[in-house]
Amino acid sequence: MPQDDIQLRRYEFRKALQEIESLKGNGTELISLYVPPNKQIYDVIQYLREEYSTSSNIKSKSTRKNVLSAIESIMSRLKYFKSPPPTGLVLFVGHVATRGDQTDMYTKIIEPPEPISTFMYKCDSVFHTEILKSQLDAKELFGLIVIDRKEATVGLLNGTNIITIANEQSLVPSKHHQGGQSSRRYERLIEIAAHEFFKKVGNIINDSFMPRIREMKAVFLGGPGATKEFFLERDYLRNEIKEKVATPFDIGYTDETGLRELVEKASETMKDLEIAREKDLINKFLTEVRKAENGLAAYGEDSILKALQDKKVSILLISEGLDRKVFTYTCPVCGKSGYFREKPAQPACPSCGSQLPELVEEDIVEVFYRLADAGSAKVEFISEESEEGQLLKKAFGGMAAILRYSNEASPY
Ligand code: ZN
Repeated sequence: MPQDDIQLRRYEFRKALQEIESLKGNGTELISLYVPPNKQIYDVIQYLREEYSTSSNIKSKSTRKNVLSAIESIMSRLKYFKSPPPTGLVLFVGHVATRGDQTDMYTKIIEPPEPISTFMYKCDSVFHTEILKSQLDAKELFGLIVIDRKEATVGLLNGTNIITIANEQSLVPSKHHQGGQSSRRYERLIEIAAHEFFKKVGNIINDSFMPRIREMKAVFLGGPGATKEFFLERDYLRNEIKEKVATPFDIGYTDETGLRELVEKASETMKDLEIAREKDLINKFLTEVRKAENGLAAYGEDSILKALQDKKVSILLISEGLDRKVFTYTCPVCGKSGYFREKPAQPACPSCGSQLPELVEEDIVEVFYRLADAGSAKVEFISEESEEGQLLKKAFGGMAAILRYSNEASPY
């Protein structure tokens, strides 16, 4: 899948989560069902049958009725699946509160961007999205190392998945156990053993990280005590890897538990890295805006639209806060397509004047995304978490473009 499609899927996924989170039930009657990829659909249906009979005992008549109909609805939908999709399946089904006492049946089926690992059934007054939300935070590849003199574990963080590459135990004897040898000689042996251990771990890291170092956003290093700093300062790691190591983290464990602890501690850093990248993109755009002439920037919906149609856009920046519907058409007479910002009472083609059939209501983001895709422009979604991100949303209407060449200069 091309990178941009992943980006669009993530954008749609984020919007779906926002919608699901905003819903509430009048009682404990909203069902969240997480089905991991390796779970048999038959087993899930069996589980739901048992929930169904348990739920028949719910005291409140309206809650009972709503829960039972939600379970029925899930069971009938699951029948369309022979097995769960590769990343699993998440269903949000239930009667959500609308105005006053009114409720509406709501159903959302999501194929998560990353595989989910545990089966979960929850009936509550809200939908549970925590597991899916955690998939939004991290999107890229990171290297993971936890190390002390006794043990080291090397892994990767891919999205939200922690993959262990190797766990190595050292034969380095404890410093406190001297076994009758002269203290200095003993120290020397310890240092040789430690060096051999670090060398071995360093080789594992170099061999497994180097082929993917370019796509690796950062390498996180942790462990108890000062070994991690020592390991980093010496020549055990290739420079390309060292350059990606953020400040080491104090971590209590050096096994797989340590990798998980490392990821938890590094999550703030990951967020900062993502925000820093977004800020860089906006600043690159602003630099072009400020140029007196031949600036490689376009802003304002119409200018961006024109630049996209002329296939001049290199990077299209879209604010995650941009949320607007437009009405798209394709003229059956002249074949031109476009969109209206407001829904016209009697839509006519702006190019040839022909009457247009039914307009399609679409998210403006998807319309621009398609145009960008057709013109090979890269799309970057920018969060509202930085000042620069806020600026994109508020001052530039949520969109901006960095151009391949300027309006004045011709590419030919
Ligand atoms: Zn037309």
